[in-house]
Amino acid sequence: MSNEAKIALLQLRIREANRDKWIAYVLGCASLLPIALLYQSYDVPYEMVFLIGLPFFIGGIGTGQYYRYQKHRLMKKLERMTKGYTECPKCRKEIPSGDYKYCPLCSASLES
Ligand SMILES: [Zn+2]
Repeated sequence: MSNEAKIALLQLRIREANRDKWIAYVLGCASLLPIALLYQSYDVPYEMVFLIGLPFFIGGIGTGQYYRYQKHRLMKKLERMTKGYTECPKCRKEIPSGDYKYCPLCSASLES
């Protein structure tokens, strides 16, 4: 795959991670709505509502945080690629991209 194609793919994945992050946040918060209605309409005890709602809320926010981290990671990768350097996954040294399949410093594989 050419470097341009890799960069385009990364940009696409960053956009997707950003979109999924917001979907997860919105769904996490939206899950509180039917639960709040349940609380209003039927005399469900407060603790019960809390127990049902909390996992959905935490799940949504947690998933959002996961995608936020993914986006951050992808952006770092994109930054390195556009600078023309890749970071060795093992020794963390910067290596000119394209020229090496193995890290010249520690001989770790650079292909991902
Ligand atoms: Zn290395």
